[in-house]
Amino acid sequence: MTDLTEQYARLGIGPQTYAFGEEILRSLHDRFQAIDETAEYGQLKVIHAMQQCRVSEACLLGTTGYGYNDIGRDTLEKVYAAVFHTEDALVRPQITCGTHALALALMSNLRPGDELLSPVGKPYDTLEEVIGIRPSKGSLKEYGVSYRQVDLLEDGGFDFEGIRSSINDRTRLVTIQRSKGYQTRPTLSVERIGELIRFVKKIKPDVICMVDNCYGEFVERIEPTDVGADMVVGSLIKNPGGGLAPIGGYIAGKKECVENAAYRLTSPGLGKEVGASLGLLPSFYQGLFMAPTVTASALKGAVFAARAYEKIGFPVFPDGTQDRYDIIQAVTFGSPEGVIAFCQGIQSAASVDSFVTPEPWDMPGYDSKVIMAAGAFVSGSSIELSADGPIKPPYSVYFQGGLTFPHAKLGILKTLQNLLDRGIISPDFHRV
Ligand SMILES: *Cc1c(COP(=O)(O)O)cnc(C)c1O
Repeated sequence: MTDLTEQYARLGIGPQTYAFGEEILRSLHDRFQAIDETAEYGQLKVIHAMQQCRVSEACLLGTTGYGYNDIGRDTLEKVYAAVFHTEDALVRPQITCGTHALALALMSNLRPGDELLSPVGKPYDTLEEVIGIRPSKGSLKEYGVSYRQVDLLEDGGFDFEGIRSSINDRTRLVTIQRSKGYQTRPTLSVERIGELIRFVKKIKPDVICMVDNCYGEFVERIEPTDVGADMVVGSLIKNPGGGLAPIGGYIAGKKECVENAAYRLTSPGLGKEVGASLGLLPSFYQGLFMAPTVTASALKGAVFAARAYEKIGFPVFPDGTQDRYDIIQAVTFGSPEGVIAFCQGIQSAASVDSFVTPEPWDMPGYDSKVIMAAGAFVSGSSIELSADGPIKPPYSVYFQGGLTFPHAKLGILKTLQNLLDRGIISPDFHRV
């Protein structure tokens, strides 16, 4: 009983679904090879950084209490700075999530009277309350930091004229979100981010350019800090934690930006000197070590899903041939049944909570019911195989993650099997 099809059969994948998946995979050989080469590049980059910073066995031990002289924490921050080619970095379990890391970077580097500019349209949902676009206690707005936004053009391009006229003597920080998140605009390549930063710096050289790097780390060979960003910010339960970090966020960039953030995270005067790492350092180091190949697995899953669903006839974004700059894949089903079947398929492929059936529910902060599939080792981790979809037109699901490609593949095959069993796709794999 060592046959692959039988192993799939045990997991509920029929022979037709398996065969369809194999046909799709055959067309992806070159694509996967390119992804593997980027992972190889990233892996070497991480190993080189760890060697250069002389990571030792002692670095894996943690501290408690104040955390003074935590050599493992301090060295890890040097490793991050080496990977992102920055002067310094702050990498802490006390940074609770991506939103917290972004809020920290913004609130510590802006002062009352300053203005924040987003030249790439609306930022990620949770930042609306940080900035004060939606009123909230403690927002930047409450502290007298104003906000301006320049939307992308219809074709996804930068509105250079609009950006030029929005930069004024109060503009202190420019925030650029790399990933499209859950919007329909294209994700920005690092090269395009560089183009935007050069434009902004030509108008105002001393403005701080910050990039929300969530979901983008290790997808390309270069990072935004290689093209002029003063600061990159992200979450350790996404790409750079490699699925192993159970919590945390990072800020890498100019010494002064990082110092401001450290003074805000702990306290003026204390900064980076305090903050015990507890027992988390092995997962942070090993997670970073795994991150390039884990990101590659997630990317392969996204490309596989795109190619399969576009062949069946559903709109997918990005499509199966487009270059990728983040790990998120959208598929539009045009019906609630499609969204539900997809998310339930992803859930049923999990190692944790596979027996749970997700249902649409009224989640706080959303204007429609939402269905979420997540059977993760780390709660809420979206570098692990996960999917979610708002139950409203155009009925799209957003799919991401997969710590290994075989797991991502199983997840997608389970979604296909579900859609097939429920008559949403025909036995010859076409949209009904
Ligand atoms: C996930 C994400 C965030 C917020 O991170 P959380 O960990 O969910 O708080 C911010 N920006 C982008 C682009 C993201 O993908």
